[in-house]
Amino acid sequence: MSPTHTSGTPPTSDVVVVGGGIIGLVTAWRAAQRGLTTTVVDPEPGGGAAQVAAGMLAAVTELHHGEQTLLGLNLASARRYPDFAAELTELTGRDLGHRRCGTLAVALDADDRAHLRELHALHERSGLESQWLTGRECRRLEPLLAPGVRGGLRVDGDHAIDPR
Ligand SMILES: Cc1cc2nc3c(=O)[nH]c(=O)nc-3n(C[C@H](O)[C@H](O)[C@H](O)COP(=O)(O)OP(=O)(O)OC[C@H]3O[C@@H](n4cnc5c(N)ncnc54)[C@H](O)[C@@H]3O)c2cc1C
Repeated sequence: MSPTHTSGTPPTSDVVVVGGGIIGLVTAWRAAQRGLTTTVVDPEPGGGAAQVAAGMLAAVTELHHGEQTLLGLNLASARRYPDFAAELTELTGRDLGHRRCGTLAVALDADDRAHLRELHALHERSGLESQWLTGRECRRLEPLLAPGVRGGLRVDGDHAIDPR
């Protein structure tokens, strides 16, 4: 990537990325890898929403009605994520906190329960793997959950990262 530009005439670049959040920085990195001169314009690069994001890579748990087309893209992206994380770790020497730990979505009340039941049915219709758990089964997996948890959905295929 080209060095940081501080003053004088603007740098000549093949690619200018406006916004150096997680997506802008990865876009710039890939462009630079392909031999393009790349400039990132951002008063606070590396900040943005990723600083506060949870890091869920939950293509299955975060499926919504009417998003079946997006689902294909999300699943393809999730399949590529481990290699992406390994490449970035090797290059930076930093642990990205990538974990294939799955997701447990829990219901705290009857509305949550109905919502998760509906999501589970959508998973089954879409050929996705998820498992309905009772409140007791949820607490067996996560003992610190509140006693009132009414059930939950376990999705082993999801993974997570430390976005920071
Ligand atoms: C609370 C929260 C939780 C989330 N949890 C998850 C999660 O679990 N899993 C998940 O996948 N996603 C999650 N997200 C979403 C995820 O964080 C965003 O999708 C992702 O960070 C977007 O990346 P980005 O690079 O597009 O934007 P950002 O990361 O927001 O970066 C934007 C960059 O643009 C810069 N900028 C702004 N204006 C200008 C300007 N005029 N000129 C130049 N630069 C500018 C900013 O300084 C910043 O660096 C969460 C988001 C939030 C807020």
